[in-house]
Amino acid sequence: MIPFIDLKAQYARIEGDVRARMDAVLAHGRFIMGPEVAELEEGLARFAGSGHCVTCSSGTDALLMALMAQGIGPGDAVFTSPFTFIATAEVITLLGATPIFVDIDPATFNLDPDRLDQAVAALVGRDPSAHPLPSAALDGAPLRPAMVIPVDLFGLPADYDEIHAVAAKHGLAVLADAAQSFGAEYGGRRAVTCARAAATSFFPAKPLGCFGDGGAVFTDDATLAETCRSLRVHGKGGHKYDNVRTGLNARLDTLQAAVLLAKLAVFPDELDERRAVADGYAERLGDVPDLTLPTVPPDRTCAWAQYTVRHAAREAIQAALREAGVPTAVYYPCPLHLQTAFAGLGYSAGDFPAAEAASNEVFSLPMSPYVTPPTLDVICDALKDAVRGVGA
Ligand SMILES: *Cc1c(COP(=O)(O)O)cnc(C)c1O
Repeated sequence: MIPFIDLKAQYARIEGDVRARMDAVLAHGRFIMGPEVAELEEGLARFAGSGHCVTCSSGTDALLMALMAQGIGPGDAVFTSPFTFIATAEVITLLGATPIFVDIDPATFNLDPDRLDQAVAALVGRDPSAHPLPSAALDGAPLRPAMVIPVDLFGLPADYDEIHAVAAKHGLAVLADAAQSFGAEYGGRRAVTCARAAATSFFPAKPLGCFGDGGAVFTDDATLAETCRSLRVHGKGGHKYDNVRTGLNARLDTLQAAVLLAKLAVFPDELDERRAVADGYAERLGDVPDLTLPTVPPDRTCAWAQYTVRHAAREAIQAALREAGVPTAVYYPCPLHLQTAFAGLGYSAGDFPAAEAASNEVFSLPMSPYVTPPTLDVICDALKDAVRGVGA
């Protein structure tokens, strides 16, 4: 079986550096907030061109801290995509705020800025005929349109210019869910600098992954960064036992920072290699009938967290690929508005047709910097056979 994500090939490349850096942590023994954490934050901020980087224990906690630091809570409406990982919306409900889903642009899988405008207008006018709304937006006290969380799905930055224009019109803060897009660029800048705050993840399968859970918040706002630094250590003030707010235990382990320092050194090369793999797929699959390949608008680059295609006969194609030793994965088989966890919001099937269609048709092919041209040939030949099989 071809690996879906080839972390072994990556480890073979960086093993010496990873082991040396981990040994250094074992030797100094500062497992919590050791010197590697600050070194990593400097390196990440420099790489991203961001004023501040605050690392933390996961991408989910990065989103949570960014929401807490901006005071999101009960009575706030937070707009986001229904076609994303549960964490994007989970953090909204955890804080007592209300997620309001906005359908995606089917070409990019990212939140559709025009529909965002319609959703805010529907919320303010309490008019669900203008855009589907959760029941909480219609019962009781009106919700305040507070924030939008665009998601850079599969590594492709969202439509930030258009989203900022709609956000400015309605007074929404913008928090980027850049969990999948670390390294991607939008308008010549790293995607994590395209909003007041951005959250990324270092989960092993993300473009820059550690050996466990990890994440970071990026911002140019010094006060916001300071608040996140406080939130990640139980709301500390001047010192650990001076608590100025209630916060979290959300630090990044020093050992994970050491691993990430080794990986960051090869990350720019890996981004180029991911792009070459994506180009290799596009060259080989461009003329396969009824198979839709990912598109990257000319003003941005993709970090290629996933190479996601779509076809109406997904299940049959996946089964044929499995037979041929080619693994695939579906991100995401159920849009969030139809998840049991969000049943209380009162959405129904049909509310977000683009997200629902994508959930039924998308599948992702093996992707990492280490997919070689011969492996690309094997994958793409198997895929062409599979598509021919479902057409026959
Ligand atoms: C992975 C992911 C997260 C959560 O990151 P964790 O580090 O797993 O907590 C949030 N949003 C999106 C879009 C993700 O892909």
